[in-house]
Amino acid sequence: MLLSFVIPTLNEEDSIRILVDEIIANVGDNTYEIIFIDDGSRDKSFEIMNELAMANPAIRIIRFRRNFGKAAALQQGFNYAQGEIVFTMDADLQDNPIEIQRFLVKLDEGYDLVSGWKKKRHDPLHKTLPSKLFNYVTARTFDLKLKDYNCGFKAYRKPLVKELNLYGEMHRYIPALANSLGYRVGEIDVEHRARKYGKSKYGWERYLRGFFDLMTVKMVTQYVKSPLYLFGRIGLVSAMAGLFLSLYLAVLKIFYGYPLSNRPLLFLGMLLIITGLQFISLGLISELIVNRINTGRNLPLSIERYVNIALEHKNEEQDRE
Ligand code: UDP
Ligand code: MG
Repeated sequence: MLLSFVIPTLNEEDSIRILVDEIIANVGDNTYEIIFIDDGSRDKSFEIMNELAMANPAIRIIRFRRNFGKAAALQQGFNYAQGEIVFTMDADLQDNPIEIQRFLVKLDEGYDLVSGWKKKRHDPLHKTLPSKLFNYVTARTFDLKLKDYNCGFKAYRKPLVKELNLYGEMHRYIPALANSLGYRVGEIDVEHRARKYGKSKYGWERYLRGFFDLMTVKMVTQYVKSPLYLFGRIGLVSAMAGLFLSLYLAVLKIFYGYPLSNRPLLFLGMLLIITGLQFISLGLISELIVNRINTGRNLPLSIERYVNIALEHKNEEQDRE
């Protein structure tokens, strides 16, 4: 079986050689290809990859003109990967290739994606704490309970890889995307090593950007079929609250003669009603757009297999006649 290793790399000159040796030592009887995506490195990373690729035709390189980020790097790697099974790994040696065989065993249990779980994490506290919060929020946002969404070490079956469309910081939510497409997602604990060479490319601020991608992914996985459910709900709550406040003030005014001047509540009520209506209209517009996009075209279904499609078509035609 051909295994593809997709490895996004940004300034990891000291780790690359060791990583390649470690991967090759752990593929067992399988054939392999190693796809490095040089995500705009400014050190010797590319030269080293190049040397390795000259000596070993199973090593391939995609080089970005500048830094485009991990999601873009993974996506390009996925486009070119040919293996039945596709692994993603960090280039910094924090993921240990010794786990490859355990990933394969887990995939064999019937999973399409097996995600690593850095059970014992060797990173500083300012990374592990936000990461805990991130995993807590993400697991509750999507109905897929994983202990570690954002582990770089994952194994995929090919069809899933070809269906993903990653951009922004979406690589953190791949398990949720896969799950929403109907693929089976599993998790195994993996050994995690401390970073020996080079520097981490991310700090706590990544989760700030990640928050917007959380919304995007939630939107495209859950609400893309019915955006009005999301916007309409927010709008209704807001408009109802506004109406309630206005009604309260109206009663005070009409039955008890209280003046409406100098009542901050009046403005709040008006604001809530207007915002609410805005949200509802936004939802309706989104519905129109979604409807337009999907008219005359099949929804992007995750097709597992076709069975006797031609036959069924024929039967349907006969039924009609
Ligand atoms: N990386 C990348 N592009 C980026 C940032 C990171 O290709 O813009 C690579 C990096 O070289 C490494 C992996 O993504 O192979 C994970 O990055 P890092 O180790 O810095 O993240 P951490 O382990 O600290 O979360
Ligand atoms: Mg790392």
